[in-house]
Amino acid sequence: MRRSELTLFTSREPGSQQNETVRLALRAGLIRQFGSGLYAFAPIGQRIRASIIDHVDREMRAIGAREVSLPQLNYSGMWEESGRWGDFGGEMFTFENRDGKRMCLAPSHEEGIVRLLSGTIRSYEDLPGLYYQISRNHRDDHPRSGLLRTKEFTMKDAYSVHATAESLDEQYERVREAYVRIFEDLDIEFVIADAENNLMGGSASEEFLAVAETGTADLWYCPEDDCRFGATGESPQSDLSAGDDCPDCGGSLAAGEGVEIGHIFKLGTRYSEPMGLTVDLDDGSRQDVLMASYGIGIERLLYSLIEQHADEDGCRWSADGSGIVAPYAASIIPLQYDDELAAVADYLYEDCGPDQTLLFDDPDQSIGERFAESDLLGVPYKIIVGNEFRETGEVELESRDGETEYLTIEEVPERI
Ligand SMILES: [Zn+2]
Repeated sequence: MRRSELTLFTSREPGSQQNETVRLALRAGLIRQFGSGLYAFAPIGQRIRASIIDHVDREMRAIGAREVSLPQLNYSGMWEESGRWGDFGGEMFTFENRDGKRMCLAPSHEEGIVRLLSGTIRSYEDLPGLYYQISRNHRDDHPRSGLLRTKEFTMKDAYSVHATAESLDEQYERVREAYVRIFEDLDIEFVIADAENNLMGGSASEEFLAVAETGTADLWYCPEDDCRFGATGESPQSDLSAGDDCPDCGGSLAAGEGVEIGHIFKLGTRYSEPMGLTVDLDDGSRQDVLMASYGIGIERLLYSLIEQHADEDGCRWSADGSGIVAPYAASIIPLQYDDELAAVADYLYEDCGPDQTLLFDDPDQSIGERFAESDLLGVPYKIIVGNEFRETGEVELESRDGETEYLTIEEVPERI
């Protein structure tokens, strides 16, 4: 992208009522607030959000999940069948349509997946199955801490269906491992907490929580490497304090806050039984389908990445300033955008890929402004075309964390 053609939605006056992380997202122009609990994503924020979605999507496909798209707008019928109509902690948006029919914006999709599968899944031979979607969901939640509790948010939700408890346990474990990979690859510091089932019902559930200064829940967690023990107020082990021994490794527990970034549930027959989703077994009997559900909050991942890695200069997208969701792989920064330096910058821009690089070609910007803007957005590398190039024909590659090396023009695209 040429900087001269890019409108940045940066804000000089991010709301003083917001926490540091949301203020940075506003300052860097990733988001714009549309009201309490409602945010829009500006182009740079949307690039990052889309990369997170791509990353989650790839891992779901890799474990054999099949993508579906369920309606966000639902009639009340299936929610009455499951017994959850009007029973969603007051968080369900409900209304009447022009014909006086009761409708809602789906706060989750357990009912929807049962409706989709009803009449198609008939025999135990049709099982197991794993289905997912990545879509906007709506809950009339009390807005809190900007991107953490919003009335509209993006969820990756997945549902698995099974004939036996063994099959359900296996799939649950496979998704759990995929979640660990997803969060590790994003470089998020997280723990896993046992959770009592709440609105979803069922027999077991676990929460994935990013460690945060400002989160969605109080968290007791083990800071040891490779130990992922965590507990919240919803965990069976609720009487913990900082300094207690970690039940998993014996390390010393810390206390803080966590952002719930993922939640997985063994639902059992909580939805299939009231909604009549059954299969024929090979002995001729019928049985309720066993289910599990698996959620990831996309904006909460974005929030956690900013919160855990940002520094005084702006966003960073991983502990070492690189990161697979950075808006651009590199900024191309000529000391002046004219004559020979402009020609070299243009050449690098074409060679590295205009979609993957941000070319600072606006002659009205000072060099300091170019550096500051690149760092604010968290672009992992700056390719600086300047005095060094005039003398040696090499450009300077500077990482977001200030490490520099010198490369010939030909070496740059591969390095990026
Ligand atoms: Zn531990």
